[in-house]
Amino acid sequence: MIEEFIKTHNLPNFRLKQFNQQFYKESIKNFGDLSTWPKDLRDKLATEVDFMDLELEKEYISKNKDTIKVLFRRKVDNQRIETVLMKHRDGRNTVCVSCMVGCPVNCTFCATGKMGFGGNLSAKEIVDQVMYFQRQLHEQDDKVTNIVFMGMGEPMLNLPEVEKSIEVFTNPDKLGMSSRRLTISTSGYVPQLKKLIDDGFKGRVAISLHAPNQELREKLMPVAKLFPLEKLIEALDDYVEITNKRISYEYVMIKDVNDLPEHANQLADLFEDRLAHINLIPYNPIAERDFQRTTNNHLREFTRILTKRKIHYTIRQTMGDDVNAACGQLADRANKKHQAKKISG
Ligand code: SAH
Ligand code: SF4
Repeated sequence: MIEEFIKTHNLPNFRLKQFNQQFYKESIKNFGDLSTWPKDLRDKLATEVDFMDLELEKEYISKNKDTIKVLFRRKVDNQRIETVLMKHRDGRNTVCVSCMVGCPVNCTFCATGKMGFGGNLSAKEIVDQVMYFQRQLHEQDDKVTNIVFMGMGEPMLNLPEVEKSIEVFTNPDKLGMSSRRLTISTSGYVPQLKKLIDDGFKGRVAISLHAPNQELREKLMPVAKLFPLEKLIEALDDYVEITNKRISYEYVMIKDVNDLPEHANQLADLFEDRLAHINLIPYNPIAERDFQRTTNNHLREFTRILTKRKIHYTIRQTMGDDVNAACGQLADRANKKHQAKKISG
């Protein structure tokens, strides 16, 4: 990272300020454009530090052009990761970042989980994904407005690097985004989530819930055995009490598995007195599993029950499924299948 370069060469602090200004705010495209630095110093930087730790491999653009999925190759080990930009009609440009190669958590319905675990990304690699799109949007007089940690990987199992990347996203001298525009999604690692919040995270928290009771949740998500629903909800209640912030719950709707009226009622039992918002996500089919997407009828009945019981919900519109960029479809199909290190604590 740049801080190391500044330190090694004993450069004055204003060089860092100049760097941050041009790298983050002006979205320069290579170190040659760092015009506030003398040429010899720029050249030295370019020989000693990589501009990006990720190499662009391929860009896929959805038919209606609202979603761009990028396949990056890590320079450190040649493994691939994916990042998605969603351009919403209301003007938001949301980047969905990955924090790992694959994922060790192995939820039954998730393509990333089926890849196994190939390693944690560094903070720089997480930032690179956002800066890639920031540079692209900058050319169109636009910018990244939101960041969601909903790509490959479980953020709570790579917390130190995730926290470092959040510093870059929110520091006024760097990207300077409001933390309200960051969302971290987790499948429910309670101690790490508590640490994130103790460390002062002010962004939004999304919980991948996917089942309204412990028995079903365990079947769909092995992590539920480690951190049972009851404990998870207890921790989240504390969070809501301290912050008064609403938590989002992701709920992938799988036909006949978790989309029946009994499930809607159990969900309502769980949330009727809580500050919560449910995101219903129609299941995106993955090749590795024969689950089916919920039907319109099931979805209608499910939402009728939630409405009747005054539970806040939205149905997430699917973006980018024609380029395999929709939720849970991120998996580098060219990567060799990793020796999956299934669930770790
Ligand atoms: N590991 C974190 C962050 C990834 S977010 C987490 O699980 O929360 C990816 C989101 O997509 C999660 O809510 C996940 O449950 C959801 N998802 C996974 N597989 C899916 C699929 N096949 N269809 C729709 N959503 C899926
Ligand atoms: Fe990992 Fe999240 Fe996929 Fe589960 S849903 S396997 S935690 S990326």
